Amino acid sequence: MTEPSAPGDELAGATTSERAPSVTLRAQRHAKDPRPGLSGLPDGALEAWLAAEGQPAYRAKQIRDGVWRQNAAAVEELLTLPAALRSRLDAAFRADTIAADEVTVSDKGLTEKTLHLLSDGALIESVLMHYPARGRDDAGRPVHRERHTLCISSQAGCAVGCPFCATGELGFGRDLDTAEILDQVRHAARRMTARGGHLTNVVFMGMGEPLLNLDRVLEAVEALSDPERFGLGARHVVISTSGVVPGIRRLTQLNPQFTLAISLHAARDPLRDVLVPLNRRWPVSEVVAAARDHARKTGRRISYEYVMISGVNDTDVDADALAALLRGDLAHVNLIPMNPVAHTPWQASSSERVTHFAARLHDGGVGATVRRNRGQDAGAACGQLAADRAGEPPAPAVAHRRDLIVRQSEAALRGDRNVERLPVDLEAAVSPRTAAR
Ligand code: SAH
Ligand code: SF4
Repeated sequence: MTEPSAPGDELAGATTSERAPSVTLRAQRHAKDPRPGLSGLPDGALEAWLAAEGQPAYRAKQIRDGVWRQNAAAVEELLTLPAALRSRLDAAFRADTIAADEVTVSDKGLTEKTLHLLSDGALIESVLMHYPARGRDDAGRPVHRERHTLCISSQAGCAVGCPFCATGELGFGRDLDTAEILDQVRHAARRMTARGGHLTNVVFMGMGEPLLNLDRVLEAVEALSDPERFGLGARHVVISTSGVVPGIRRLTQLNPQFTLAISLHAARDPLRDVLVPLNRRWPVSEVVAAARDHARKTGRRISYEYVMISGVNDTDVDADALAALLRGDLAHVNLIPMNPVAHTPWQASSSERVTHFAARLHDGGVGATVRRNRGQDAGAACGQLAADRAGEPPAPAVAHRRDLIVRQSEAALRGDRNVERLPVDLEAAVSPRTAAR
């Protein structure tokens, strides 16, 4: 979870009142509640159910208003409905697909990480980041308005397995359904409403690879941008991908209003094969070609994410390769010093190195911004808190993993292409449903 490192983003005056979580959530495993979540229902589903129940069609709007305007957490809060209908509705649907939350506050109140327990015991997370207004114009108005950005998960765990990412270390759990994606947003919105504010941005940068659960993610984005439902402009949504090329091409055809972010992390294939294992299926040139077409067709700038790892991907050679790759494109690079994670031997690049890398990109004709990591003290790096709750991996496993990462990255730095096949669960994840499109 990252943010611009501008001086106005410093942390004055925030509250820390939510600090101690009242429950300690642990991953469990049991059957998922079969009742669909109300927030994720497709168009017409409520109408069809009401008709079958012999209820008037106008009840559908009352229920939708209860979900989206009132943001009800339980069917019993829908007081516009008669009690008998509430009880039928409760038997068929859930007003909330999240069973429990645990909130951890950090950065003097500016970052709130929530661990969400789902009905089958899976744990996912979202992170709410507050950015105070900063800068004043001549009329005293803020140049950058205050923002409240929620980072959400699209899957429990992730099959891609990037070695610097805590979610990658967890492996793949399951896809989230549409309501589970949207209910993360509704939970954060509830907290914002209680303080008299509202969410301004939603980014798919939590756990999981959104483009490997694209149908559900697109349904969620539609609900978020629908004025009758969440009502957040699509321009305030970012979808981040590690480079699922058929998914990017599918998005391009939809000509979307949201921003596409590509997690690049390396401009050279041998290194990217290690840092983002999906690269063995869709190499850098294909990812960037798809992103370039996307920018041309939509007129929207691509954000490239680049996690800076000391001595691995932060050399002048890397900066020059990256500049050569993106020069002339409608693109911007976000440089993110790596958040430390238990299972990797790597460290974040020094701030001098990051600044130098950014300057070299600028000289090479590519715009770049250094992002500051949010929530490090709360383990708010991608997937970190959930990973902790899954239990520390045994020491020999960590040592083995570190050894493998070191060997692979050393080979990559020598320029050797990693010819290993994709990990089995990643192979299953990318075919045939995504690759076939
Ligand atoms: N799977 C998608 C979206 C979720 S990851 C993707 O990879 O794009 C969101 C962002 O968090 C990615 O850019 C990812 O590279 C970054 N990230 C993961 N682990 C990190 C770490 N240890 N430090 C800094 N950023 C990290
Ligand atoms: Fe998955 Fe993204 Fe983490 Fe890679 S960085 S393991 S794609 S969540």
